[in-house]
Amino acid sequence: MVKYALACKTCQSPFEAWFSNSDAFDEQNDRGLITCPECGGSDIQKQIMAPAVSGTKKRESQSVPAVNPDPKLAAMMKKVRDHIASTHEYVGKDFATRARAMHDGEADAKPVWGETTLAEAKSLIEDGVPALPLPEPFAPPKPVDQKKLN
Ligand SMILES: [Zn+2]
Repeated sequence: MVKYALACKTCQSPFEAWFSNSDAFDEQNDRGLITCPECGGSDIQKQIMAPAVSGTKKRESQSVPAVNPDPKLAAMMKKVRDHIASTHEYVGKDFATRARAMHDGEADAKPVWGETTLAEAKSLIEDGVPALPLPEPFAPPKPVDQKKLN
């Protein structure tokens, strides 16, 4: 759903309306189906382009790893995954807390990997905490996932 701020060209009154997508506004407006709640006029224009995404919470990451046909790259990704899995401790959702504590000297520094939100990752980097985003193909399976597999 997209919310548009609209304005009536006849009486200048502003109003808002929801549309299923941006094309729906154009289509309905072309057919004169959108009318001004003040004067009933159908000469409507978009006030500003300010679509607001509605609905339930957006997922942080919806990226699906692409199947990569390059065997060299696939081997490299596996190497990275194996390396992380064998040398890094999985700390799950505690990643930001742990990385920050190590950076502040409140915890022993050791390689960890885990999950964090985009906002947390940004604030870590801004605070100079060494953290790197790990693209999906390079992330080893989480230990919990591994247990499920076995
Ligand atoms: Zn009007």
